[in-house]
Amino acid sequence: MRILGIETSCDETSIAVVEDGKKIFSNIISSQIDIHKEYGGVVPEIASRHHIKNIMAVLKEALDESNFELKDMDYLAVTYAPGLIGALLVGVSVAKGLSYGSGIPLIPVHHIKGHIYSNFIEQDIELPAIVLVVSGGHTNIVYMDEEYKFESLGGTIDDAVGEAYDKVARVLGLQYPGGPKIDKLYYEGNSKFLKITKPKVPGEYDFSFSGVKTFVINYLNKMKMQKKEVIIEDIAASFQETVVDILVEKTIKAAKEKNVKNILLAGGVAANSLLRKEMKEAGEKNGMEVYYPSLKLCTDNGAMIAAAAYYEVKYRGIEMAKLNLNGIANRELD
Ligand code: ATP
Ligand code: MG
Ligand code: FE
Repeated sequence: MRILGIETSCDETSIAVVEDGKKIFSNIISSQIDIHKEYGGVVPEIASRHHIKNIMAVLKEALDESNFELKDMDYLAVTYAPGLIGALLVGVSVAKGLSYGSGIPLIPVHHIKGHIYSNFIEQDIELPAIVLVVSGGHTNIVYMDEEYKFESLGGTIDDAVGEAYDKVARVLGLQYPGGPKIDKLYYEGNSKFLKITKPKVPGEYDFSFSGVKTFVINYLNKMKMQKKEVIIEDIAASFQETVVDILVEKTIKAAKEKNVKNILLAGGVAANSLLRKEMKEAGEKNGMEVYYPSLKLCTDNGAMIAAAAYYEVKYRGIEMAKLNLNGIANRELD
């Protein structure tokens, strides 16, 4: 089953051709990071405009590289939710146009299901599994007992992890996206420097990162008032260690409670080197296998959308999108 996957939910315009959720023929990613970093974060209107500007070239490149034509696709797939509404609408409109023009059925895909299924592209994973979803807009512990079924056990009550990374990076004077930069500084700093209080949350598997972020901001303000120098490497390292500790502890706890042997990391923050290492080690100690996608497949890309669509067709046999398909900015996993 050959699927063309389209992703435009945030600041990556990406289109891929993937067969059976596994074989990637092309996965073109046009990132707008260089444009948005001047503003310290993604500016929605600018993102929409650049998606419009780039999407047809990305489509051509994705097809050219795959050596297929549009008519060779069994299905088209597009991220319809969640994300920036203007950005989503560019992908959805193009996908509907292609589907209407070619007669190829269109599958609407939830962006987070794409992140989750990016794990299944390069490796075979058996269910049940616990998935830690950590991205720019999401932080959830998800239980999957069968294919394409998602039960959220808990999530963030305020900031997403990626969002906290980006905001802390900004106050440290680092450019968007801050996650990779903090990850790098971690190795140059003293991670025991700041004793950051771990947040209290209502549910066992809930998270809160706003307090962790505020702790860092308050410390920086205090130092500024006292006209003292700060060592940003130490702050970055302390922040990263606290965050990763929280994520690993709760994920392992959930896996134990559900008696699950497989743990998956999904979303942009799954690229974090310390999270990958610590989760793997904690998994080994507890007799659990830890999986994560290769770095390129962690952040937004079309291949994960095509992969998720394959599993959706295979296991859910969903209804194809009609021409009234709309983008949806906020939508939970269901
Ligand atoms: P969502 O998937 O929730 O809609 P998004 O698509 O904007 O949000 P992703 O593209 O999945 O988010 O991930 C981007 C986020 O990942 C950014 O917040 C970025 O800082 C973070 N990130 C990327 N690499 C790393 C890293 N090595 N360490 C920590 N965070 C990282
Ligand atoms: Mg992005
Ligand atoms: Fe994403």
